[in-house]
Parts: sequence; C-alpha cells; structure tokens
Amino acid sequence: MKPKQLFSQLFDRRRDADERIFSLVSATAMVTLLTTMGIGSILLKKPEFLLSGGVSALVFGIIVLLSLRFHKASLGGIVIASLMIVLMIPANFFHFGGIAGGAPLWFTNYLLYVALIIKGKFRNFFAVLGVAVFAACTVLTILKPEWVRTYSDKERSYIIIASAAAVGFMVFAMVGFCMYILREKIEHSEEQAKEIAELNAAQNRFFSSMSHEIRTPINTIIGLNEMILREDTSPEIREDAENIQAASKMLLQTINDILDMSKFESGEMELTNSAYRTGDMLSDIVGMLWIRAREKNLEFRVDIAPDLPEELSGDEVRIKQILINVLNNGIKYTEKGSVTLQIQCERQEGNRVKMTYIVTDTGIGIKKENIPYLFTAFKRVDEEKNRYIEGTGLGLSIVKQLVDLMKGTISVNSVYTKGTTFVIELPQTIVSNAPIGEMRASRKNLSVEKKEYRQSFEAPEANVLVVDDTAANLMVVKKLLRDTKVRLTTASSGAEALEKTLDTAFHVILMDHMMPEMDGIECMHRIRAQAGGRSNEAKIIALTANAGGDMKANYAHEGFDGYLLKPVSGNDLERELIHALPPDLVHITNNDSTILEESVAWISDHQKKIPIAVTTESLADVPKSLAEKYGIAIISNKIITKDGLFRDGIDLDTRGLINYLQDNMDSDSVKDRAPDVPEYQEFFAQALDHANHVIHIAISRKVSKRGFKAANEAAEVFDNVTIFESCNLSAGQGLMAIEASRMAKEGKTVEEILAALEILRNRVTTTFVAGNIDYLVRAKLISAGLGNIVKSLMINPVLKVKNGMLKPSRVCIGSREKVWKKFIKATFDTLVPIDRSELFIAHVGLTHQELETIKKLVGQYVQFKVIYCKEVSTTIAVNCGDGSFGFIFKRTV
Ligand code: ADP
Repeated sequence: MKPKQLFSQLFDRRRDADERIFSLVSATAMVTLLTTMGIGSILLKKPEFLLSGGVSALVFGIIVLLSLRFHKASLGGIVIASLMIVLMIPANFFHFGGIAGGAPLWFTNYLLYVALIIKGKFRNFFAVLGVAVFAACTVLTILKPEWVRTYSDKERSYIIIASAAAVGFMVFAMVGFCMYILREKIEHSEEQAKEIAELNAAQNRFFSSMSHEIRTPINTIIGLNEMILREDTSPEIREDAENIQAASKMLLQTINDILDMSKFESGEMELTNSAYRTGDMLSDIVGMLWIRAREKNLEFRVDIAPDLPEELSGDEVRIKQILINVLNNGIKYTEKGSVTLQIQCERQEGNRVKMTYIVTDTGIGIKKENIPYLFTAFKRVDEEKNRYIEGTGLGLSIVKQLVDLMKGTISVNSVYTKGTTFVIELPQTIVSNAPIGEMRASRKNLSVEKKEYRQSFEAPEANVLVVDDTAANLMVVKKLLRDTKVRLTTASSGAEALEKTLDTAFHVILMDHMMPEMDGIECMHRIRAQAGGRSNEAKIIALTANAGGDMKANYAHEGFDGYLLKPVSGNDLERELIHALPPDLVHITNNDSTILEESVAWISDHQKKIPIAVTTESLADVPKSLAEKYGIAIISNKIITKDGLFRDGIDLDTRGLINYLQDNMDSDSVKDRAPDVPEYQEFFAQALDHANHVIHIAISRKVSKRGFKAANEAAEVFDNVTIFESCNLSAGQGLMAIEASRMAKEGKTVEEILAALEILRNRVTTTFVAGNIDYLVRAKLISAGLGNIVKSLMINPVLKVKNGMLKPSRVCIGSREKVWKKFIKATFDTLVPIDRSELFIAHVGLTHQELETIKKLVGQYVQFKVIYCKEVSTTIAVNCGDGSFGFIFKRTV
C-alpha cells in the first residue's frame, strides 16, 4: 500500500473506524520512531540508533500492512503491543539511560496505544503486563546498575527532549485523530436519526393518505350497497350485498389497524385524555357488541359494579377500542355459550382509580404454549383451527401497546376448548366520584330477524347542505337521506358552499375536510363568521375520511358540532341529524328504535348531572351558536319602555329596539334593568338541576352595580354557585363564559377554572367606537351641549374597558370611513401581543357590507383564525346606539 493510499484511507468514512485508527496510530509511530532515531544518531553521533529505529519501523510497517490487507487490525494491534512491551520498551529502557532517560515517556505512550487500539479483555492484560515490565526494568536497574548504558548530562538532555517531542507528537496525533473519528461518528448518527425521523414521517403520511384515499371509494361502495340492502331484492342479491358489506367492514378494520401500528412504530401514538361519563362509554360499547353476540346466538352479559365513579378522565376513544377488540375476539372465537364483560374499580390515593375490565368467553380457548405469542403483531395462534375466522393478528398487539401506553396491564387465562378470560387494568383519574349505580344487562339468545329498512325520522322542512369535492360522496349522502325527506342541497367546493349559505339558512351542514383550495375547516369558520350570511348559526358536522382516535376531539376543538367518519352508514347519518336538527322539525317515524338505543336504555336511566355548568347574562353577547355549543345558560336583562317591559333578546331584539328609539329618541322612559334576586335564584336553581356546580360570569360591578349585587345575593342561598366578576361587559364577559365552559368540558375543577379566569380577566381587550352621539346623550354619558359640539365637529369617542369601567379612551375625528380606519389602526397596529385564535365584533345595526369592510381593515394588521360578528344585546344597544361597534379579543400577556 502506498503512503498516499494509506493517507486517503484514513479519511475514508466508509472504512472501519478501528482500522483507520490502527493505521494512523501505527503510521505515526513509524514516522516518529524513524525521525527521532535519525536525529538522535546525528546529535549523539551514534549510527546504531538510526539502525535500530529503522529496523523497528520496518517490522511495524510490515505488520501494519499485513493486518490491513487481511482486515485483521485487532490482531495487528496485539502483535505490535506484544513486540513493544517484550522487546522495545525494555531495550529502550536499558539503552537510553534507564529511569532517568526517556523511558517513562515511552512507557506512557505504550499505555495510550493499548487503550486506543486493543479491545476487550486483551486491553487490561496488556496494561497490566506493561506496568509489570516497567516495574521489573526499574528493579533490575537497582540490582544490576551496570546493565544500564550511561550518558553524559548533555546527552541525556538530548534523549529526554527527543523522547518528549516524539511522544508528545504521537499523543497529539493519536488522541486528535480518535476525537476526529468520534465527532464524525456522532455527526453520522445524528444524520441517520434525522433520516429515520423523516422516513417515519413520510411513512405516516403515506399511511394516513392511503387510509383517506381508500375510505373515499369504500364510502361509495358501502353507501350504494346499503341502498341495495334497503330495496326489496331477491334473497340471492341480498346475500351478495351482505357479503360486500362484511368484506368492506373487514377492509376498513384492517386499514385502521395498520394506521395504528404505523403510529406506534413511529412513536407518534399519543393519548388524548379528557373527561368522559363512564355510563355513556359503557353503553356505546354494549350497544355495538350486543348485536354481534345476538347474531351468533350467544348470551351477552354485562356486570358493572355499582360503585364505579360516574365520571372519569382518560382516553375514552382508546379505552373503547381496547374493550371492543377484546370483546369482539370473545364473540369471534366462541361458538356457543356466553361472553361476559365485568367491570370493577378500586379507589386509590388522591383522585386515582384502578379500573378492572374482565372479559370472559366460553369459546375455543387458547393453548398454553400459544399464550406468549398472543400480543405479537400479525401472529395468529392455532392457525389451523382459526383458518376460517377472519383476522389479521393485529388486534391484540395494538391492544397491548395501548394498555402499556396507559400504564395499565393485560393478562390472559385460558383453558383450551373451554374458554378464555382477559383481565385489563387501567389507571384513570376520577372527575366525579358519585357512584354510577345499579346496572345489569343480560340478553339471552334473542334471535335476529333482518328488519326492513325504515327511516328513523322525517324532516321535510329541514335544510341540510352537504359539502364535498367528490361527486360520488354527494350522491351517496343524497341517496342515504332520501327517505328522511330533508331538503338536501349539495356544494362541491368551499366557495360554492359560501355562496349558498349567504342566501339560505341551513339547519345542518355536513362538511368534508380535505378539499382543494378551501378546506372544510376554513369553510366552517368562514360560514360562522360570514357577515350577513344566513347560516351563521347552522350546526356544522365534519363528514370526513380522516380517521384516527384523536380526530373527533380535534374537530370538536376546531369548532365543529359533530364528527362522522367515512364510510358513513344511513344509520349514522340519521342519528347525527336527529340530534343536530331543531327538534320541532323532526318527526320520528321509526319508534321501535334501533338496537343501539334499546341497549342504551338500561343505562340512560342513570344519566347524572354534569360537574360544572357556566351561566351568564344576556348582555354578555355570547353568539347563540357558541352558547348552545358550550351549554351556557343565559339570564335575560329587561328593557323597560313606556309601552311595557321586554326581555332582552327574547321579547325584543336589537333591531326592534333601535326602531323604537328612533321614534322615541328624547324619551327618558327607555331603561334597562338587571334581573332581581328572586329571578337570579330561580335561574341558578334551574341550572343546578343538571349540574353539580354553577359558575356565573357576572358583569363588572362598576358597570351594573345592581345586577352584580343581585347575583351575589342570590348565590348566597346555594352552596355551589360561584359568582365570578368578569370586570367586563358585552362580548368581553361572553368570552370569559366561553373559556370557562371550555375548561369545564375538559374536566377542569372549579378552582382551576377560577384561577384561569383571574388571569384571563386582565387579558381581555374590549373597545368600542360610538356611532351615534345622541344615544350617549340619552344615556347621560355626555351632556346635551357637549353632544352638539361633538356632533358638529364630527368627533367620535372611543370607549375602552379599564379596571372594570367603560371609559372614553380617545376620540377619532372625521368622516365615518376615516373614524373606522383610525379606530382599527389604534386597536390593532400595536406591539401588544394579541391572541389570534378569535375576534368578536359586537355591533349595532351594521350591514353585511359594512362588517366585511371592517373585517378587511382588521386583516391588514392582524389575521384572526375565527371572527364572530354579533349584534349586541338590546341592553348594550340602548346605551351606545346605532352604528356603534367594538372589538373584543384576548391578549397573550
Ligand atoms: P385476529 O385478528 O386474528 O383476531 P388478534 O390479535 O385479535 O388477531 O388475536 C390474535 C390471536 O389470538 C387470534 O388469531 C386468536 O387465535 C387468538 N385469540 C384472541 N382472542 C381469543 C379468544 N377470546 N379466544 C380464543 N382465541 C383468541
């Protein structure tokens, strides 16, 4: 090997690192040896030095080349170390003046060589051998001083200087190169880790898009197949259609399982914990599996301990998945007898509880030797026997990984041919400790007759819009809902949907997510915020092929009112619509309700109160859709006029009031009045009918002393009503109520919610520009004289909530357009960090066009994710007048 070749190999990343270090270290040793000996022989005039150095270097060189040639670097290292310690070190020791010469340095160098080149147990051996040889040499110099060659002081200095330089250079080269290789390796492994992460992400993207793409055509297959099943066809066609249905469902299950496995493999599987009602979760599971057991004429028993906490926090979707999988296996692998689900709990420290789910079947059982392989992916045990039972062997592997993720345990007991018991223990957090109560269900050998399809409801006056870019999907929904007689409109893009919602008030909108140009989420937000749109308040349900345990929660978080996964069945669609449509439009036609509802009935008696309800007042200006979504109960303020007393938002809307005031501008008799103590008491009592605790978000006491006082006095008679002063009014107050409800739904405690509201209270900006000075004069906020001056100068005051009071903060002068621009610039062109998630525009009598202009102007400074436009309550309108509007948003500090 030529020196150039050797050098290029040193920096060749593809070569083995040990070989590279061996080559470098050995080459350095050879060069140093030759140079030192050469210089030594000249300075000390001793040619034999050069000779011995040359011979040593030659021997080393031959060994190195042979080792590299045969890829035996470690053997080469051992041979060189042996030569060094047996021959070179002792010869060097006695030849160059013993302990007082350069020997200690060369010995140190030998140890470094051993540490860097020799691996495993040989390393320690050569280190010990080295120390022993060095000690022996030192002892020998004492016993036999004549064996040590002597030098003059000058010569010894030369020897020490030369040794120090040579050893120093070698240490530098050896350690430096090893560090270089180490850094190279770290870099390489970092690159590899990055590549793996990218690969994983690509694989995940592939699986989720594959799942999405496969779901879309299956939606058509299952949907149209359902239409065939609904028809009165021949038994043969019916059987074929049933087989198509079963095969499609099997395909779907496999897609779901593969998606989950890929998430586990890439480490992206995460739990989404939230509060859930134990009874509801169990009724869903029972409803789904009971029918399958019935189809196989198996008895399905459910035995639930009455002391289970009624509300828990955990990943409900994944717990359902675990139990459905194990119960499904029980049914699948049992030919006769029963499948039983038993649930018990053990309360632990704090608010923790250990839930135990026991699934027992009287099926084929599992051989003892197969039990260790049950949880292995793609492994189906006893394949010969199970040949005709569908399955991929993925189910239990996913179950086990989910249980592990939840820090639970799963164990199996089985007697071959007699039956199997799975015991699953999962730790959960208690949200409401009240016991769930008595629940037992046992359905025995009920035979299943194929029922003819009959639509579960009719709603000929209901307006439903379906938005989907795939024509086949639109057709499927249209056909599946045909018999319900709903007025169905279709839109094949977000833009088309927006056109239709502008003119038509839809009750429900079924929205696809993945659409080109404008996706379903953006479209939903734009429909909600569409100024002058007629479907602002529509219930919007995501109807998507995006599957995954956390999707339902994600869509709810985005603001959807429901989530339907494609492929969707007629039953799913009807069930979702029954809940989403206004009840007065729905005529139930199929009262021998579905099996699901039948099985749920035994649990619904035990429906309990929710832990926390949030209430507020009508002047909190919570948009109706949000109040409904978050279940916020609202007590109405009243407007007193000389023609009578009207409830805000119920008997009198803002438009009506403005018209009335235009005719009665100078009338002093129009006043707003907060509810009194008995009214508040009745309101709180009603809220407590379905909640354990009420948090009432009250108006700032500085704005309405009377209302705030009455609410507090009323709350005194209840133990569980907390009044929270919002220090705000209008949508600022509403925003706090919405936030409180969001937290209550997430299972937060009263204390946690109040603590968060304390912080939020100081982060809400509420600012209004008055549109009509006459109202401020009428409300006695400014005097009549000042009002005239202000009007003639075209001055518009801007009011802002500060320390719980609405105070004038600045004035904007000029035409209406100019005033708006100045007001918007002053509000949003600031360094104050704004939370961009939502903006509320509260206004009095602005048109669709005007609101769009305002939104555009705001958009020049801040892009909000959602903008809610809401006409203010009559109480607020009485005081600020036509043409006023304000902005309410959160700041992040
Ligand atoms: P599969 O899709 O095959 O059902 P699973 O992972 O759910 O995959 O189960 C793995 C194997 O464990 C099954 O193929 C079956 O042999 C066995 N098994 C699971 N549950 C039971 C049960 N309750 N009774 C008998 N065998 C079972």
